[in-house]
Amino acid sequence: MHTNPFQNARYIIDKIEEHGHQAYFVGGCVRDSLLDNDIKDIDIATSAKPEKIQAIFDKVIPVGIEHGTVVVRHQGVSYEVTTFRLDGSYSDERHPDSVQFIDRIDEDLARRDFTMNALAMDKSGQIIDLYGGKHDLNEKIIRTVGDGAERFTEDPLRIIRALRFTSQLGFSIESDTLQAMKKLKEKIEHLAVERLHQEMEKFFAGKYVDKGMSYLIDLKIHDYLPVFKHEPNIVNQFPRPIMPLKSFAEVLCVAHLLKPTITVHSWAKQWKSSNQTKRKATILVESILHYKKYGIDQWLVYQLPNQYDEAFTRVAQYILDDCTIDLNTIQKIREQLTIHSKKDLAIDGYDMMKMFPEKKAGPWIQALLNHIERLVVMEKIDNNKEKLKEWIKCNPPGIN
Ligand code: ATP
Ligand code: MG
Repeated sequence: MHTNPFQNARYIIDKIEEHGHQAYFVGGCVRDSLLDNDIKDIDIATSAKPEKIQAIFDKVIPVGIEHGTVVVRHQGVSYEVTTFRLDGSYSDERHPDSVQFIDRIDEDLARRDFTMNALAMDKSGQIIDLYGGKHDLNEKIIRTVGDGAERFTEDPLRIIRALRFTSQLGFSIESDTLQAMKKLKEKIEHLAVERLHQEMEKFFAGKYVDKGMSYLIDLKIHDYLPVFKHEPNIVNQFPRPIMPLKSFAEVLCVAHLLKPTITVHSWAKQWKSSNQTKRKATILVESILHYKKYGIDQWLVYQLPNQYDEAFTRVAQYILDDCTIDLNTIQKIREQLTIHSKKDLAIDGYDMMKMFPEKKAGPWIQALLNHIERLVVMEKIDNNKEKLKEWIKCNPPGIN
């Protein structure tokens, strides 16, 4: 039976069919619905060409039209709608050289990576299962559609995808598929780092990442991954069982803490992480180092943006094996902070300049503000203008 997300998406299939084309739910949404897992996003495969889809629907975003993919918006939800296709070879290991649009779902399913991902479902809930995907889901097995060596040669990212699915689903890799991964693993090195990043982020976030990590280490996949390949020991240093790390920033933070000679900057650069990921990883590292020295205090919480509370808690619990850190404690401290940013200080740079008219404006102002900010946050002095002035008079800035 269809659950709600499919109900809403059914409109898209109905519309496409009304225009005389075929359309099916495909890929992860069918797999996850058969597993009774939460469904993230719904992908639709269709015999209609992208231009047709653009003509049928009002809100269509041409995200990858050359590969046959557009996004259709319906009731505030995005649906990827992809024309049935055959992929050409991947000579650059980045994109298929060419795609050929076709009008049969069976051939489209043949290009998909694993049997569990090669399932389609029509609008009435009937499953099309040409490769034993349902059997493999029941047996919890990851198996390529067709010959593993051929499929991994076409696109070596599938080797990493197999690992990320073991990590997300806790499945085992079928033995021929595993042999093919072993044989072809060095092809991973030529993949676009952005593609690796996307899959490895999901790998580390998986509920069964410890199982995934065992496969990764046994197969020595790390010998072909940025940074890890130069420091093969790092993967063995992850405390076991490894806990799911929900963002790549958390992975970078843990990796840096395990091997402090490799900076967050260097990790982020070699993995082509976004600036936001890099910033988050840096803040997490600073917070963990502060915690190791001083425990949880107001300064730590003040410096930690509240949207990182969960990430910090996760990393701290995992890497320090410290269960005393919990979200509640952090949130309580945050509620009671005397100030939330420098702007909340009862004194500013102008006040300080007025107090020392003989001193030229300079870095001393910022230094003094920083010092006072920390004292106020740590509740060593009240955030009260007169009190702060008094304190400054007793602790005047140095000469120069
Ligand atoms: P998720 O739940 O993470 O979205 P997913 O299975 O939907 O998992 P996607 O990366 O969204 O994974 O891909 C959608 C579908 O496209 C897959 O289920 C699979 O059928 C196919 N697919 C994706 N990447 C590849 C690939 N590299 N080679 C072959 N088929 C692929
Ligand atoms: Mg998907």
